[in-house]
Amino acid sequence: MTRKFLAAMIALTLAAPAQADVLIDNVEGITIGEDGTIQRFTALVIDDDGKVAQILSAKDKKPQTDYREDGEGAVMIPGLVDAHAHVMGIGIGALTLDLSDTTSLEEALDKIRRFAAENEARPWILGRGWNQEKWGLGRFPTAAELDRAVSDRPVYLQRVDGHAGWANSLAMQAAGIDASTKSPAGGRVERLPGSQAPAGVFVDAAEALMMRAIPAPRPNERDLAFAEAQKVLHSFGITAVADMGTSIEDWQAFRRAGDTGALTLRIMAYAAGPDQMELIAGARPSPWLYDDKLRLNGVKIYLDGALGSRGAWLKRPYADDPGNTGLPLTGPAKLRNILVRAAQGNFQPAIHAIGTAANEDALNAIAELAESFPGDRRWRIEHAQIVDPVDLPKFGQHGIIASMQPVHQTSDRLMAEARLGADRLDGAYAWNTILGLGGRLAFGSDAPVESPDPFAGLAAAVTRMDAAGEPFGGWRAHDRVNREQALAGFTSEAAYAGFAEGRFGRLLPGERADFVLIDRDPMLASPGELRATKVLETWVGGRKVYDAD
Ligand SMILES: [Zn+2]
Repeated sequence: MTRKFLAAMIALTLAAPAQADVLIDNVEGITIGEDGTIQRFTALVIDDDGKVAQILSAKDKKPQTDYREDGEGAVMIPGLVDAHAHVMGIGIGALTLDLSDTTSLEEALDKIRRFAAENEARPWILGRGWNQEKWGLGRFPTAAELDRAVSDRPVYLQRVDGHAGWANSLAMQAAGIDASTKSPAGGRVERLPGSQAPAGVFVDAAEALMMRAIPAPRPNERDLAFAEAQKVLHSFGITAVADMGTSIEDWQAFRRAGDTGALTLRIMAYAAGPDQMELIAGARPSPWLYDDKLRLNGVKIYLDGALGSRGAWLKRPYADDPGNTGLPLTGPAKLRNILVRAAQGNFQPAIHAIGTAANEDALNAIAELAESFPGDRRWRIEHAQIVDPVDLPKFGQHGIIASMQPVHQTSDRLMAEARLGADRLDGAYAWNTILGLGGRLAFGSDAPVESPDPFAGLAAAVTRMDAAGEPFGGWRAHDRVNREQALAGFTSEAAYAGFAEGRFGRLLPGERADFVLIDRDPMLASPGELRATKVLETWVGGRKVYDAD
């Protein structure tokens, strides 16, 4: 589909200015008004600064502009905002081995073997995306199995949730890991049955034992990965993200892109812990840089691990692993310490909490601190996946933002049932309940853990059914949200969650002209059609950054 730029020069100047006002006409525009209702428009005017000057309805008189572009009847929505993603992970993932589509161990080993053969120059084979649940393996894979695919170079592959890694024998050797290696606090070195020999999988904090042996990517490799991440995200209609766990090296890559004019994605950054926070920003959050494209907002704090690796911290033991309640990665005193440090500097904390005990402790810690640190804090809990129903009202009581990922619900429901048991899921992925109790929802993808595709997220949010339409009618369907709430979660509410309201997220006059042209109406499409939405063009700050043609 060609989308011709009908560059009608109306201005009498001989040379066109670098930026000029543009009318994008003939669109079916949709946005969320301040009151949460859908507003429709047919044209949008962008000013010289790449901001929205006006949105127009059919009856409004069209202003004279330097350029006019015909939207050819495409649907225009605000640029999508992903409230929880790992930007460099997406980029590095796009450049490394991806096992997320493998459905058996043998298929994965074949893919690893091929990738190693195609990438002979790489001293380490790195990748991610494996999932022993999806393989139907019923256990973690082993180093010996990985050796069957590659035995001449070290291999290290992260699990789909990023909370465990799988090494071959050479990689363990390079990291100096043997039977005498102890599991660190907050982590577990898997052992071979009946032995102390490491089996090849490293869970949560034990991953660091392997990670330190892997050569860090060089700055030019990071720049390549970042460019790739921007490309991937724009192709899905995403114009802004909250980057969860920004390191100083990530930040420097974002800054290099900003300095050279290559930064097209808006990034609300949350530092990977308090030390990185201070390294990046010093005593206060950074200002908005590069025309609202980059800001260090706050700090990401890992309170527990993930459900898949039984690292999520639960109040009661796992139904499928009695005696195991998971791991607090940050103890209660340390959590409060970090929160105070962040709050004193006006940094926004974003606490990763998956299990019931982690969510309870995060909510209690916020409740305690909210008294000493009043004002507009926008405390965030990331994931908030399994919350004890008695704790849910605390979201509303303290204006806490639940930053949730609709696709996690559809991907993880069977696992959640296995890990928790069917009778302990009343507060699981409780989107509508949290809204009903006065909490606020910001939606995201957790890419690269899941695909960054926000249309899959929107479809899951309004149906609680997966791509195959399972389970029919939706899983715990009372916790669906409506379409307005779903779209707001991926636009205006995700911007609010990062203190970016008024800058982007709604396409209101004065905001940055970040928008997406798509091929169908997300308010009217069936869930299946919504999921299959095609992004035609993505614009950031009044400039086209992606064109499907
Ligand atoms: Zn994440």
